[in-house]
Amino acid sequence: MIILSAGAWSKYLINVKLPVKTYYCWASLFLSKKKEVGSNIIYDYVNNFYSRPVIGLGFPLAIMGDGKAIETTPLQQNICIEDKNEVSARISRRLGEVKELYTSGSFCEATPDMRPAYGKIAENVYFIGGFNGYGAEVGPGLAHVLVEEILSKKEDTYFTEYRLERLNGYDGNFEIGQEPHEL
Ligand SMILES: Cc1cc2nc3c(=O)[nH]c(=O)nc-3n(C[C@H](O)[C@H](O)[C@H](O)COP(=O)(O)OP(=O)(O)OC[C@H]3O[C@@H](n4cnc5c(N)ncnc54)[C@H](O)[C@@H]3O)c2cc1C
Repeated sequence: MIILSAGAWSKYLINVKLPVKTYYCWASLFLSKKKEVGSNIIYDYVNNFYSRPVIGLGFPLAIMGDGKAIETTPLQQNICIEDKNEVSARISRRLGEVKELYTSGSFCEATPDMRPAYGKIAENVYFIGGFNGYGAEVGPGLAHVLVEEILSKKEDTYFTEYRLERLNGYDGNFEIGQEPHEL
């Protein structure tokens, strides 16, 4: 049995068409003068950025970014982050002076409805992915659902909205939407 869970790479590892698009996303580690950033998650829909505390011990350190999807394949190297200064300026509009300490990014994959997907794609082959930039939060939960289904040999009836079949007919040709933070 194979569970294909290689994130943005999954799409490029098999000959089955997956209804996902891949993109690059970056974030920066910031030092702020506001100690609140060290213990609060912020979604700023006016200045368009998000912030997450680092470690959660209350230090005024946070990972921040705009969550913007730069459409590309995970085979792409040296991706240019063009709007970093502009994002910093927007963050400062809300939080005052911030100091960028480190910036990095990686590849994610999106689905047409910006919700994750799991299901069977061939005999003894399952897929889980499409985490649209929030897989650290919901990935383990959905993995649990998939494993339960496989072990019990019974289809889950509660999380049906995340079943891969809902995306039948999509081949990866769609516009990447907005990350649903309230999922
Ligand atoms: C800058 C940034 C900020 C983010 N912020 C958040 C956040 O605040 N909250 C949140 O919930 N999520 C966040 N995410 C998204 C989260 O990281 C992803 O949704 C999550 O990592 C997806 O998990 P995954 O296991 O599906 O894929 P990945 O974590 O990408 O794991 C896939 C793994 O498969 C490996 N792989 C690839 N090909 C093969 C192969 N052939 N054989 C074996 N292994 C292979 C890859 O190397 C990789 O390690 C962020 C992502 C980025 C880039």
